[in-house]
Amino acid sequence: MNGNLKLAIQKKGRLSDKSLELLKSCGFDIENYSERLFISANNFKLDVLFLRDDDIPEYVQDGVADIGIVGENVLIERGSKAEIIKKLSFGKCKLMIGVPEEEDISDIKALNNKKIATSHPRLLNNYLKNNSINSKVIEISGSVEIAPSLGVADYICDIVSTGNTLKFNKLKKSFTVFESEAVLIKSRTFNPAKQDLLDQFKARIDSVLLAKNSKYLMMNVERKALEEIQRIIPSLKSPTVVPLAEENLVAVHAVIPKEKFWLIVGELKSIGATGIILLPIENMIL
Ligand code: ATP
Ligand code: MG
Repeated sequence: MNGNLKLAIQKKGRLSDKSLELLKSCGFDIENYSERLFISANNFKLDVLFLRDDDIPEYVQDGVADIGIVGENVLIERGSKAEIIKKLSFGKCKLMIGVPEEEDISDIKALNNKKIATSHPRLLNNYLKNNSINSKVIEISGSVEIAPSLGVADYICDIVSTGNTLKFNKLKKSFTVFESEAVLIKSRTFNPAKQDLLDQFKARIDSVLLAKNSKYLMMNVERKALEEIQRIIPSLKSPTVVPLAEENLVAVHAVIPKEKFWLIVGELKSIGATGIILLPIENMIL
């Protein structure tokens, strides 16, 4: 017991790179881990444990790790009692019902009395129960999408991104059963002596996530257009206005949600904004 905050992340898979990237943007100095089971950060009391994603919920629940990063789907599928403390906005995916291409299903009642193959029985059963549907759930550990052509099931329920795997198996997307993203989880038996470390850890993550979703916008406008600009820009705070050598012009700087840029750029141009620049922000503390 070294008193370090123990964080479990996926060893090798879809969440591994993004989890490490997040930790690095938070300023934790973690060496490339290659095949090691765990690594300590050089500049923070943090140990990173590398595990199969299926094991993370239990390890955190049992307190082997204090916190973990895992897909929300895995957390629920494993029936874990670990607590979600933050959604991390990566690893987004959808668990969907896939049906044969030629079937037109618009009413969820069409799932009644059908066989649905899945590797996510708990999530599927929750969904069916919430919608009062009675289907037979067939649990398969992998390659679920071939079940209908083998005659094992009528439909499938699987994680879908592009839908190409479905198409290849003459299936198509239907209802969405669950929307997932990576989440930061905490043990319910979390050691209070580590609360301060966890607060610092969380503050860094908050700052990085906030910065990732924001951009720094700069432009020049005529001074008389300032009021218009303030109406257009969905700024977190009031924009910074800097006088320029040319007296009737000002430079306006503002932090905006990144998805807003393409929505407002036309309006900005129409009121005569020039030299519009959008910059990434590394960290943001409000
Ligand atoms: P492990 O070897 O650790 O058990 P795995 O093969 O079970 O890995 P991955 O395929 O690496 O798991 O997926 C990890 C998580 O990534 C999923 O549980 C899900 O939350 C998320 N995810 C994001 N996009 C996708 C996708 N297109 N397909 C599957 N999972 C995805
Ligand atoms: Mg797994």
